[in-house]
Amino acid sequence: MQDSNLLLMLNAIGTACTVLLAHSAFQLPAPATMQQKRALRYFRLALVGWALAFAIGSLQLFSANWPALRPVSILFANLTYCSSYFCILVAVATRYQYSAIGIRTWHYAALLALCSMLVIALLDNFLLRNLLIPTLCTLLLGLALRLSYLPAKATVQPRHRGDQYLRLSLLLLLLNLLLTNLLMVPLTASGIPTSTRLLMFILLNGILLTSAINSIFHYDLTEKIRHEGQTDALTGVYNRKILPQLQPQAADCVLMADLDHFKRINDTYGHDAGDYVIQQFAVLLQHAIRPADTVIRMGGEEFLILLRQTDISAAQQITERLCRQVAATALNFKGTPLQITASFGLCPVGQHDLTQAVQQADQLLYLAKQQGRNRLVRS
Ligand code: GH3
Ligand code: MG
Ligand code: MG
Repeated sequence: MQDSNLLLMLNAIGTACTVLLAHSAFQLPAPATMQQKRALRYFRLALVGWALAFAIGSLQLFSANWPALRPVSILFANLTYCSSYFCILVAVATRYQYSAIGIRTWHYAALLALCSMLVIALLDNFLLRNLLIPTLCTLLLGLALRLSYLPAKATVQPRHRGDQYLRLSLLLLLLNLLLTNLLMVPLTASGIPTSTRLLMFILLNGILLTSAINSIFHYDLTEKIRHEGQTDALTGVYNRKILPQLQPQAADCVLMADLDHFKRINDTYGHDAGDYVIQQFAVLLQHAIRPADTVIRMGGEEFLILLRQTDISAAQQITERLCRQVAATALNFKGTPLQITASFGLCPVGQHDLTQAVQQADQLLYLAKQQGRNRLVRS
C-alpha cells in the first residue's frame, strides 16, 4: 500500500477512536471517591501528554528545512506517547484498585501498552510509528475512560469548567486528526512554505495544548471549591447538598445505612474515636459499591447509597454481605479495639421518585433498628 493511503487509513481509524473518546468524555460523571478523582486527574494528564506528543510529532513537518529536528521530534514524540500510556495505566489501576472488573481492565490496558511499545521499539517506519501509535493511544484512552466510568449516564451532571476544557481538548484533537487527514499528505509532499506550516503548527497545537492544560488547571481549581461545598470534610464522600443535583435516574435502589448505638462510642471513647469510626464506615461502604454507585453522608453516621443497574435481589445480596462485613471488621483506634454493627433500609426506586424512595428506605431503616439492629429490612 502507498504511504499516503496508509496514512489516510490510519488517520481515519484515529478519528473514529477520538469520536469514541469524546463521546465517553461527554458522559463523565462527577467523581465521587478519592480514587475516581485521582484517576480522572491521570486521564487529564494523559490527555496533556498526548497533545504534547501531537505537537512534537508535527514538528516533523519542518524536517525538510531543519533535518536535525527529525530524530529529536521522533524521540520526544514517542517518549510523550509512552508517558501518556503510563498515565492511562495508572488511572485505570487507581480507579480499579478495589473492584473485581479492574483486574481484567488493567490486564487489557497493560497488554495494549506493551504491544504498542514493542511497535515503537521494533518499527523503523515513519508512518507506522507516528500514526499507528497515536491511533492505538486514542483507542486505549477512549476505552479506558469508557470502562472506568462505565455508567451509561452520569449520576451527577458534570458542571465544572475543567470538564468543558476536557471536551474542548477532545474536539480539538478530533479537528487535529481531521486536518492531518486533509492537509498532512499535501503538506509533506509539496513545497508548502515553512511560514504556512509554522502558522498551522502554532494554531492547532498551541490551542490544543493550552486547552488540555486548562482542563487540568480548572479541574483542580473547581474540584477544590466543590470539595468544600458538596463533599463531606470528614469522609470525602458527597454530603447532602448533592441531593438536589441528582438526576431522576440516579438510582435503581436506595439504601440507608446507620451505625448501631453510635452514641455509646462517642460517650465511651470520645468524639475523636467516633470520627474515626465514621471514616472507617464510609470506607467500608465505598469498597462495597461499584463505580456507578454513589455514597452520600446524610449526617452523623447515617449514609445514603444510590445503587444503579441493580435489581432489588442483587441489592439485597450486596447489603447482606456488607452488613456481615461491618460486624466482622475489627477497628482499632489508638490501641483501643472497637466493634461496630450497622442497620440498613433498602428500597427499589421503581415508580417512586427518588425523594420518596429515600423516605421509604429511611422508614425501613427505622424498622431494622426496632427489630434489633445489625440487619437489613427491605421493602
Ligand atoms: P441507633 O442504633 O438507634 O442508630 O443509635 P445511635 O446511638 O447510633 O443513634 P443516632 O444514630 O441517632 O446517633 C447519632 C449520633 O452521632 C449523635 C451525634 O452525637 C453523633 N454525631 C453526629 N455527627 C458526628 C460526627 O461528625 N462525629 C462524631 N464523633 N459524632 C457525631
Ligand atoms: Mg446510629
Ligand atoms: Mg444516626
